Amino acid sequence: MIDPFTGPPDLETGSRLTIDLGALQSNWKHLASCAGEAECAAVVKADAYGIGIRPAVRALWQAGARTFFVALPFEARAVREELPDAAIYVLGGLAPGSSPILAEIKAHPVLGSLPEIDEWELFAKENGIAGEAAIHVDTGMNRLGLSFAETQDVAKRYAGGNLAFRPSLIMSHLACGEDADHPLTEHQIESFGNVAADFPGVPASLANSAGTLQGGAFVFDLCRPGIALYGGHPLGGDNPLKPVVLFDARVIQVREVDEGETVGYGATETARRPSRVAVVSAGYADGFMRAAGSSDDRRGADAIVAGKRCPLIGRVSMDLIAVDVTDLAPDAVRRGDFVTLIGDGITIDEVGARANTIGYEILTGLGSRFARIYIG
Ligand SMILES: *Cc1c(COP(=O)(O)O)cnc(C)c1O
Repeated sequence: MIDPFTGPPDLETGSRLTIDLGALQSNWKHLASCAGEAECAAVVKADAYGIGIRPAVRALWQAGARTFFVALPFEARAVREELPDAAIYVLGGLAPGSSPILAEIKAHPVLGSLPEIDEWELFAKENGIAGEAAIHVDTGMNRLGLSFAETQDVAKRYAGGNLAFRPSLIMSHLACGEDADHPLTEHQIESFGNVAADFPGVPASLANSAGTLQGGAFVFDLCRPGIALYGGHPLGGDNPLKPVVLFDARVIQVREVDEGETVGYGATETARRPSRVAVVSAGYADGFMRAAGSSDDRRGADAIVAGKRCPLIGRVSMDLIAVDVTDLAPDAVRRGDFVTLIGDGITIDEVGARANTIGYEILTGLGSRFARIYIG
């Protein structure tokens, strides 16, 4: 069983991360319905985008997910320990000498270069194993993956029965899937379709979250959503996904600040009126990015205090965040109360935007000082 309470105990830390596994399951089901006839996998790299890979994959398996993508072999090992029957793909390529490790975990490498293919073929031959693996084709991202010419070569060998491992997936990755009209997106869909046709009988996969949510030509045989499982909405606009993460932190003290005084490091924000400030026990060491702080020149993130949105005031410090609660009734917030930094209508995408980044970085950056509570 997964302990529903992990991390330091509540009273030994200042912030809580409440993770709604029911929302995770319902997001997977929504994405599976977008995928229609195709299989809906789950991308759980980077500790399931920060929410905890073990509880996440157990919940996803229960919801119906059978195929999981991680970045690294040690992540595959964690998934395997939880799910003996899952198909697991390692996106980060085959590191030299790591074939026996993947075979032991029964994880499939995602092969994205000829040297990787050679090494895996040799290993499969020497050990007399089928060696199921994905072949990653580059269709314009220029990150990982075989070129078209290299892929055609491999396809010919496959057709001729001269490939010493079994391709179980042919895949590519979208560079700007959130923009269906981008010329690169159109090019990627079309050229991937051509490449996939060279591997008859091998399931094909292109869509990330953005592609899965758009459906249609993005879908192919298997979808690989990540961020949308965790409540992020790469397309913007109305979010059909449920928030999975609630980040709240304890008020340490509430103080009065005179008009004209400044708050926090660098004295970057001046109180324009007699103010009340709640100082909260969380900071950039917890992954609440310093770039989401506030100054006289730039509005920062918001917090929900006693049910109302209140702006941050001054910089985010390592362990502390100041919130301007002047607009609340004087006794609305007290020492020991919890203030919401993500959740209750504040999305990871919103916090990302306020910090000049994306929801992905906010989620995966959430630190280790939280009391973690799994619900649902
Ligand atoms: C991370 C990743 C995904 C998932 O992307 P999201 O935008 O989080 O849905 C899918 N495929 C590959 C190859 C990835 O690296």
